[in-house]
Amino acid sequence: MSEAPVVTRFAPSPTGYLHIGGARTALFNWLYARGRGGKFLLRIEDTDRARSTPEATAAILKGLTWLGLDWDGDAISQFERAGRHAEVAQAMLAAGHAYKCFATQDEIAAFREAAKAAGTSTLYRSPWRDAAPDSHPDAPHVVRLKVPRDGETVIHDQVQGDVTWRNDQLDDMVLLRSDGTPTYMLAVVVDDHDMGVTHVIRGDDHLANAARQMQIYHAMGWAVPVWAHIPLIHGPDGKKLSKRHGALGVEEYQAMGYPAAAMRNYLARLGWSHGDDEFFTDEQAKEWFGFDGIGKSPARFDFKKLDN
Ligand code: GLU
Repeated sequence: MSEAPVVTRFAPSPTGYLHIGGARTALFNWLYARGRGGKFLLRIEDTDRARSTPEATAAILKGLTWLGLDWDGDAISQFERAGRHAEVAQAMLAAGHAYKCFATQDEIAAFREAAKAAGTSTLYRSPWRDAAPDSHPDAPHVVRLKVPRDGETVIHDQVQGDVTWRNDQLDDMVLLRSDGTPTYMLAVVVDDHDMGVTHVIRGDDHLANAARQMQIYHAMGWAVPVWAHIPLIHGPDGKKLSKRHGALGVEEYQAMGYPAAAMRNYLARLGWSHGDDEFFTDEQAKEWFGFDGIGKSPARFDFKKLDN
């Protein structure tokens, strides 16, 4: 039996320049795919129209190009796929895996207040979950996923190990907003499925999202990708990376005259190691890169060290 070819992707939200963390995620995905004769795809997650800008998209493409992280095919715009996302939500409605929720924001807020006062869970439970599908035909509504209330969801993560959620701790997430636009959760799953992504390698700030995204895969009967959630990068003080730790934009390194190959080497070692090797060629990195070399604790970014 031959194994399916590896397909990875980098899926940045174009809200700013390509930063160190994003560049490292892109590099890991590129190395994983290129080392296995697979494909590396690029998807611009521009669904949030208020925060996405064409300048940020241009800066991300420029940064990736400078780093030499070539992607296969054209960069995909998530926003342009909104029709497909809505179509999948409709399919889930038709199959009874999703429902229309007519609750207003005020009603949801009142539910939370009451739960808080009673000391019960504030996880919203819509009264529309079990209503007849056409009970309220034309009123404004969101579409929610009917997440099973019993059992558990386990993410078999290649870096974090098995991570388990009780299903009764997950909410019936919104798939389509009342204006018919898809949520991030729906868009990511539909796109990864349609693009044939086999391995999702991204920051561990998305780990809890994986548990929720898994519900969509199950509802649609789609193959679940291999997950690998990488610990985030911290500054030398152990705090979340920010501007005060030094240059964070990839283009700043380009402007300072760093060679792209040195930058790739540095980024590869932010959270991944291969024995005591400090320097390696691209060919070696492609050959050696794998999940077993990724550390479980946050990588430390030290601007001065890069400067040496
Ligand atoms: N667009 C998300 C971000 O920039 C990444 C989503 C994903 O990799 O699944 O954080």
